[in-house]
Amino acid sequence: MGEVKGFMTIDRKDFSKEPVAKRLKHWDEFTQRLPEADLQKQGSRCMDCGVPFCHWGCPVSNIIPDWNDLVYQGRWEEALERLHKTNNFPEITGRICPAPCENSCVLGYNYPAVSIKNIELSIIEKAFEQGWVVPRPPKTRTGKKVAVIGAGPAGLAAADQLNKYGHSVTVYEKNEEVGGILRFGIPDFKLNKNVIRRRVKLMEQEGVVFKTKTHVGIDVKLDDLRRKFDAVLLSGGAEKCRDLTIPGREFKGVYQAMEYLPQQNRINSGWKIPAGQRIDAKGKRVVVLGGGDTGADCVGTANRQGALSVKQFELMPKPPQERSADNPWPQWALIERTSTSHEEGVERDYCIATKSFSGANGILQKLHAARLEFGEKDSQGRRPMKEIPGSEFTVECDLVFLAMGFLGPVTDGMIKDTGIVLDERGNIKTGKNYMSSLSGIFAAGDMRRGQSLVVWAINEGCSAAENINQWLK
Ligand SMILES: Cc1cc2nc3c(=O)[nH]c(=O)nc-3n(C[C@H](O)[C@H](O)[C@H](O)COP(=O)(O)OP(=O)(O)OC[C@H]3O[C@@H](n4cnc5c(N)ncnc54)[C@H](O)[C@@H]3O)c2cc1C
Ligand code: SF4
Repeated sequence: MGEVKGFMTIDRKDFSKEPVAKRLKHWDEFTQRLPEADLQKQGSRCMDCGVPFCHWGCPVSNIIPDWNDLVYQGRWEEALERLHKTNNFPEITGRICPAPCENSCVLGYNYPAVSIKNIELSIIEKAFEQGWVVPRPPKTRTGKKVAVIGAGPAGLAAADQLNKYGHSVTVYEKNEEVGGILRFGIPDFKLNKNVIRRRVKLMEQEGVVFKTKTHVGIDVKLDDLRRKFDAVLLSGGAEKCRDLTIPGREFKGVYQAMEYLPQQNRINSGWKIPAGQRIDAKGKRVVVLGGGDTGADCVGTANRQGALSVKQFELMPKPPQERSADNPWPQWALIERTSTSHEEGVERDYCIATKSFSGANGILQKLHAARLEFGEKDSQGRRPMKEIPGSEFTVECDLVFLAMGFLGPVTDGMIKDTGIVLDERGNIKTGKNYMSSLSGIFAAGDMRRGQSLVVWAINEGCSAAENINQWLK
């Protein structure tokens, strides 16, 4: 434990952010890390609890109190070692994890929680700066070969672990670059893409082979990979977007968020998009449908492109500002969250059902919606909803982005070809050992779990790798 009374005498301090007007002019990350002395003080706020609930709250079970104390003592290299034991990519979670650890931090019960995520990022970035993160290829090879299909955080974590066990790993990715949603979904202002490239380069130096622009099920058959490799891991994500099949959906101007966000990410990397295909919010009135992370990323992107106005509509009621009685600490707090993109300018509204779109000459002009009311929770915890009579309204708009979640993996190609069994939610069904209905084929990440978080994808990738290793042995 750092200072015995650190949690009482030192206030929480977070990274500082560039002012909104300045950061809207560029696509880069805009937070500045704290000076080292401040970070050490922040580490000393940790109470080293008998039962560290932060550790329970972190999906990769980071041993948070240990590295908080090591940072407090200035023993950064040891802090790195402790952090890397449980988290393959802290430079990524330290940037974009919603930090469930901080929701369950004991100090957070009645004071601001320890700034765990900031400390995590500072450890790993200092380590890269100091040259402490170097390739560590396995000392011996097992002679076993594993194919990983899909290079999002789940596939990358699995490949990293399997390589550490000494297996020879080849990662197949359909896109031109690896990273999955980290690379093409999450905007650069939240996660600079060089952060992913830096880690991937290390993995290559350690022996992992990446084959990009290779769509399994189209360019190469899963059955062929099954014959060539001793085990296969499917980590292709949950790429089937929920659609809104209402009148007017076909108008030009209504797009899936995952059509919009990857395009801007590619432009930032120097891609030229043909004029007719460019989705640009400059000078446009934008409505984002869906109140989650993906929706917030659309808000931040539209504002950087120079949108005239940005609205974000959510079907569900506005969450409370404080935890409700049935959502106590240390659970994930179901409260209204304001992301950095929201700070940059958006009008948020709740309990809205979009009924149709209208326009002229095939081009979107208006969104038609109605307000909803929700009843009391039933025995299953669900709140029945009904439209409020006479509440219909119209919004003039030029662009609508659908950010309403994902319905599981795309099944055409690889999944349908092999007849692999899916669960009732449409994800790949596995046993506790992450093996699918086909012997030697495993699944992890959003493809198995359904749409989730990066930190859960890392957890899934590592857990699948452990099971594959056991199976190969
Ligand atoms: C816009 C957006 C923003 C998000 N923001 C956050 C955030 O801030 N924080 C957070 O924690 N989570 C966030 N999430 C969720 C998080 O990104 C996902 O839960 C996570 O990326 C899932 O990892 P994955 O490896 O399972 O799948 P993915 O990241 O989806 O990667 C799957 C990869 O498999 C490839 N692939 C699929 N099929 C094939 C095939 N047949 N052959 C070859 N390659 C294939 C895909 O091209 C892709 O690269 C966000 C999600 C979205 C959509
Ligand atoms: S990975 Fe996420 S939950 Fe775990 S310590 Fe880091 S910020 Fe917290």
